[in-house]
Amino acid sequence: MLCFSLCLFLRKFNRQHYNGSSMKDKLLRRITITMAKDRDKFIADELKEIRNQCEGLEGIQLVTCVPDAVAMIIKKTDFKQLKLRLMFPSHYPNEPIISELNSKTLSEKLLDGLQKVCDDECKKFIGNVQVMKMLHFVNKFLEDHKLCVCSSEIAYVKKELLKDCDEVKLRQKTSQIIIKAQQEKYFLNFKLTIPEDYPKTQVQLEIIDHNFPELLKVNFEAQAVEYARQCVQPPLRKKPGDPPFQPKPSMLPVCKYLIGECVKNYPLQKCPMCFCYVLPQNPPEEVSKEKQVERVYCGHLYHHSCLAAYMKKPPFIGGKKCPACGKRIFHEKWKITPELAEARWAHKQARDRELEEVKDFMA
Ligand SMILES: [Zn+2]
Ligand SMILES: [Zn+2]
Repeated sequence: MLCFSLCLFLRKFNRQHYNGSSMKDKLLRRITITMAKDRDKFIADELKEIRNQCEGLEGIQLVTCVPDAVAMIIKKTDFKQLKLRLMFPSHYPNEPIISELNSKTLSEKLLDGLQKVCDDECKKFIGNVQVMKMLHFVNKFLEDHKLCVCSSEIAYVKKELLKDCDEVKLRQKTSQIIIKAQQEKYFLNFKLTIPEDYPKTQVQLEIIDHNFPELLKVNFEAQAVEYARQCVQPPLRKKPGDPPFQPKPSMLPVCKYLIGECVKNYPLQKCPMCFCYVLPQNPPEEVSKEKQVERVYCGHLYHHSCLAAYMKKPPFIGGKKCPACGKRIFHEKWKITPELAEARWAHKQARDRELEEVKDFMA
C-alpha cells in the first residue's frame, strides 16, 4: 500500500515539476549564473585590491590588471627579473589560479622548476584571493635564491667539470658557491661569491685551501681573477667594427680555468723536456730546486732545471718555443732577447772550447 501511494506521488510530482525544460537544468543554470556573478564580483574586488597594494611595492610593475588576467614584472636587478602572468580559471577562487613565468635573462630550467613550485603553492590559497599571495611567493623566491642568476652556469659546472669525487655546496643566503675539486692526490678548495648585480660585476674568488705548490696557487688565483675581469671590462684596445661591449657572466670562465685547466690537468701533466710528471706524486712532498715547477706563459709546466737548460740552448731565433704547444716561452726568470741568448751561447761555447784546449794541453 505504501509503495503504491509513493509511486502515485512521484508520478504527480514529475508531472507538476518536470514539464518542458527540466527543473534540474533550471536550477543548475541559476546556480551557475549566481556563481559566475559571484566570481566576477570576487575578481573585481581582488583587482581593485591588487592595484592598491602594488602601488607602493618596490621592484614590482603592474602591466595588466583586467578580469582575464593579471601580469606583473618583478625586477630585482637588470638580470634578475621575470614576468608573472596569472589567469583566473572558470571556478575561481575555488580552484587554483593559473600562473605563467617568462624571463629573457633567467634560465629556462630555473623557470621550469619555479613553475612547478608555483603550481603547488597556489593550491594552498584555494577559496581565497590568490594573486598577491602568488606575487609575494615568487618575489621571495627570487630574494632567497641569490644564485638563481647563475643557475645554468652551476648546472654546467656540476655536469661537465666536476666528477663524483668532487664537492659543490651552494649557499643561497650568502650568494656563495664552495667547490672542492681534486685530481690524483691534489685538491683545490675555493669559494665564489656572486655579487648582487651579477653579471655586471665579476664573481669574487677566494682560495680556501689547496696542496699545490704555493707558486702555482698564486698563478691560479691571478689568472682566474684576470679571466673574470675580462668578462666585465671592455678590452683596452678596441678594434674598429667591434660590437659595443656587453658584460658576460664570469662564474663559468673562472670554473673552467680553475677546475678544467688547473686541478684536473696539472697533476697529470708531464714535463715537455724529460717527460716525467712535473708535480711531485705525493704532495706536499719537498722537492729540490731543480725539480721545482715553472709555469710558462702558454700554461705548460716544466721542471726548473729542464727549462733552464732548454732556455740556454739554441736555436734562439724568434724566441724559444714551448715543445708542447709551439707557443713562444715567456717567463720572468728568462727575460732575455734572442740576440743576447745567442751571444751568451756563443760566449759559453768559446769558453768550453778554450777549456778543452787547456785540458788537451795539460794532458
Ligand atoms: Zn723535466
Ligand atoms: Zn706550451
